[in-house]
Amino acid sequence: VKHTILDPGKVIPEILKLVENSAHTSGVEITTRIDEDTPSFMGDPGRFQQVMLNLVNNAIHAVTSQHGAKGGAIEISAAQTRDDEGRAMVDIQVKDNGCGIAPEHMDKIFSPFFTTKAVGRGTGLGLSVCFGIIESFGGTMSVDSRPGEGTVFSIQLAAHENQS
Ligand code: ADP
Ligand code: MG
Repeated sequence: VKHTILDPGKVIPEILKLVENSAHTSGVEITTRIDEDTPSFMGDPGRFQQVMLNLVNNAIHAVTSQHGAKGGAIEISAAQTRDDEGRAMVDIQVKDNGCGIAPEHMDKIFSPFFTTKAVGRGTGLGLSVCFGIIESFGGTMSVDSRPGEGTVFSIQLAAHENQS
């Protein structure tokens, strides 16, 4: 594990190339919006890739279960934000118009082995791994969801300039 400076404007499009084909085959439209002033952050590139792939694969599953072969949309965005003390942060979001998460499942989804997928389809480890990785980068991860409408996973990380 080697933490390096990661520029969302560079690494996110590279990671998305890896899922372009499977998304296209599933009829899912993926759009990206990365603000020009999005700061870099510190993290391990392989682990960050793992986080983004887990989130996007979950989103693909959620939109295809909601819409079938057409109508699924995933939006990945990155922007600068500020914490309570005014320090610059990176905000990365993966938003989908999929099935959403039942309210009673919201406090369980980051737990290891929690899955609503069929036996053999999901290990329930994806989000707990994501959570641990973002924590190891010094960041936080949260979720907002409306059943039948969609879900947004948000990641907040300190901007690289703020770390010493
Ligand atoms: P798995 O994908 O193997 O089930 P995860 O830890 O990745 O395990 O996700 C746990 C559960 O969280 C999923 O089974 C699903 O119920 C819910 N979930 C995760 N991402 C989404 C999403 N984008 N939309 C709806 N539900 C989701
Ligand atoms: Mg998963």
